[in-house]
Amino acid sequence: MQIIRRSADMTHWARGVIASGKSIGLVPTMGYFHEGHLRLMRHAVSLADHVVVSLFVNSLQFGPREDFSRYPRDFDRDSRMAARENVDILFAPAPEEMYLPDFNARVRVDGLTDTLCGKQRPGHFEGVTTVVAKLFNIVKPHYAVFGQKDFQQLSVIRKMVRDLNWDVEIVGHPIVREEDGLAMSSRNTYLSAKERADALCLYKAIEYAKARFAAGLTSAKLLKDELRDIISGNLRVSIDYISVVDKDTLADKEVMDMNSVLALAVRVGGTRLIDNCFLGNTLEA
Ligand code: AMP
Repeated sequence: MQIIRRSADMTHWARGVIASGKSIGLVPTMGYFHEGHLRLMRHAVSLADHVVVSLFVNSLQFGPREDFSRYPRDFDRDSRMAARENVDILFAPAPEEMYLPDFNARVRVDGLTDTLCGKQRPGHFEGVTTVVAKLFNIVKPHYAVFGQKDFQQLSVIRKMVRDLNWDVEIVGHPIVREEDGLAMSSRNTYLSAKERADALCLYKAIEYAKARFAAGLTSAKLLKDELRDIISGNLRVSIDYISVVDKDTLADKEVMDMNSVLALAVRVGGTRLIDNCFLGNTLEA
């Protein structure tokens, strides 16, 4: 595996691959890899002739009071893990390589970003779409793999690609979980042992919701009330949102159906965690 730091070198490599008639798969990440990242890499390897993993903690998508400076980082560990997954390139640009001092451009997707995490993290998705747009232009992928864990992010990126006619196939990957059900996340490293135990309420809520839906419950309000009771039974957990939305439009649903998604965001101690599930099927890794 080769490590590339400069975007010009990355694009030069991509042009060479494309000229030889081969395909490129991209897995954008912020690093501190866990099994979820590795599964995305493996999926990209199965789809494309060559795979690029980008590793960039994107300051643009963090709010002023968020965890940018303390976000976990371990480049050596990450590069060893990616190298074991048959990744061709680890693209790890320095911040000043991605954002020149006079950087002024933004890519924004309206509508889908007004709800869920977009409401509580102003500017977050604009930061995401801007960096992903840059990565698409630098790496020129045929496929880009994103996790269903960040369900709203995946919807927003699909919309950006459709609206801007980007010639890249966006591939979603099911949520990868710990054995006890907690969705894997680099942010789980912030949790104390007690918080880690409380964080399981997200998965418990998801399992409960799936069972209620399968048993015929259609009232989103009733389900959300019941989930609020389950989650707020945990002292260290505060709820950011419990929402049932349409999987395509992300509009709130009153009557749940096969296209409904349950989306959850909570704070456990100082750590914000998200999770979700498709009520209509069991899209799990
Ligand atoms: P991050 O490094 O957290 O920005 O994540 C990079 C990519 O990995 C994103 O597409 C995430 O949705 C995806 N990802 C993170 N955690 C998981 C998980 N537990 N299961 C599936 N995909 C994940």
